[in-house]
Amino acid sequence: MTSVANAEPTAADGIGRAGVKVEPGRLFIGGEWVDSGGDRRSVYDPATGAEITTVAEATTADVEQAVGAARAAHDSGVWAGLPARERGRVLIRAAGLIRERSEEFARVESLDTGKPIMFSRMIDVSTAAEMVEYYGTLAGSIEGSVRSTGAPMMAYTRREALGVVAAITPFNFPLVLSVSKIAPALAAGNAVVHKPSEETPLTALLMADVLREAGVPAGVFTVLTGGGEAGQALANDERIDKVAFTGSTAVGRTIAARAGENLQHVTVELGGKSANLIFADADIEAAVNTAINGFVYNTGQFCMAGSRLLVERPVYEQVVEAIAAASAYVPVGDPFDEGTVIGPMTGPRHLEKVRSFLRRAKADGVRVLGPGADGAEESAGGWFARPTVLADVAQDSPFVQEEIFGPVLTVQPFDTEEEAVRLANDTPYGLAAGLQTGDVKRAHRVAAALQAGLVWVNGWGVLDVAMPIGGYKASGYGRECGPEGLDEYLQTKSVLIGL
Ligand code: NAD
Repeated sequence: MTSVANAEPTAADGIGRAGVKVEPGRLFIGGEWVDSGGDRRSVYDPATGAEITTVAEATTADVEQAVGAARAAHDSGVWAGLPARERGRVLIRAAGLIRERSEEFARVESLDTGKPIMFSRMIDVSTAAEMVEYYGTLAGSIEGSVRSTGAPMMAYTRREALGVVAAITPFNFPLVLSVSKIAPALAAGNAVVHKPSEETPLTALLMADVLREAGVPAGVFTVLTGGGEAGQALANDERIDKVAFTGSTAVGRTIAARAGENLQHVTVELGGKSANLIFADADIEAAVNTAINGFVYNTGQFCMAGSRLLVERPVYEQVVEAIAAASAYVPVGDPFDEGTVIGPMTGPRHLEKVRSFLRRAKADGVRVLGPGADGAEESAGGWFARPTVLADVAQDSPFVQEEIFGPVLTVQPFDTEEEAVRLANDTPYGLAAGLQTGDVKRAHRVAAALQAGLVWVNGWGVLDVAMPIGGYKASGYGRECGPEGLDEYLQTKSVLIGL
């Protein structure tokens, strides 16, 4: 579907500024690229607003056909019936293919999302390859156990696939969040029907190519491009055994409710509003840098963004001023400039959401600081937003309670550790949290008290495929990554043999 240019790209060769040619996308069903009977949807370059290509919009009939093909492939045993180690070998081959095509993957991801190319290479593509390899390796460890019982019998457990998995993903980390479902689900022996975000569907199509070439049998992996309607038709299909969803809390609630009615397995990885606590005993310079990275990374479109900063009062003003001043030096620009750290937002609806929060903050008399404070709109085209700090905000304000999902940081002072923890825990969300401190006892005490699925101490944003991520409270349930991420795609059967 794509090719990377070897020579300097020109507009005439259709390759363009990203150095990669993207063909119109089709659906991948039953191991074949097929056309949809439905419309085509445009995919845009967030840095310019120009159309990159179009992809098929899956209809309800396409969804039905895809689930049928996946069901048949699963029930035939062509994948679930393989020794787990053999499935693992296929995944390890796929990881190698991602690495061979890493530059192409990175360029397509940056073109589609607006992510700076250095992050697409260093984080998104390398994590995706590592995750596929990790679950390929872990596949060999899927095993039951022999149990001793109170009667004369041989008793053991088997770990089996769930069946057909619907993997529905959001726009902000398309490749990584697809692979965090596809890799463990396939390792466990499931068939996967994947619906990526309609805003950023392109690397999912590359994954179809890679998995086919690696040896995943026809029908075991499917890609349906399309929007919320296609997602809903997929999640509602009673032939689906599990829905693995990452996205907004609003959509996650409807998916979890429907999965309850259908008695399907479900994991929902949802929104966040993560608090970063800076104590006066921290290395303040390092803490300021960490806080900036925590809210500008991926232009703030990071479910685990450190979007709420709580600062101990003696260093409060110093930290607020330092963040507002230093965030002006973080390079904002074209994702394909090697030095860019903040790219555009992925779509106009995300930029408008940020702007509407900032308009409201100004109307409410909030102290607005940082390079985005003047409200000036970029004139160069594309959906750019600059870092903005909202200082002294009230705990019950929408700026603190609601997910803004852009490069906007709220800052509040605290006087005691207890108050810091109380404020940190006082939102509906519980995805991540962090604290910056020089006191090791405080580090453990506060890490235990924070209501979040992941806590960073003296840092922010570092993730590892071996460490599970997932929500507390309205950030959802279920875990991705680590062995826990594999367990989510397995069920246990007991076998009892009379002797
Ligand atoms: P979204 O909920 O709008 O869309 C997510 C996916 O669901 C898309 O593929 C969309 O087409 C599909 N969808 C929409 N309506 C649907 C329906 N009724 N039934 C089934 N599918 C439907 O989310 P988004 O705007 O793409 O992503 C941003 C959100 O995702 C933020 O809230 C962010 O915090 C969250 N997120 C969470 C994590 C995590 O790990 N917890 C990671 C990344 C993003």
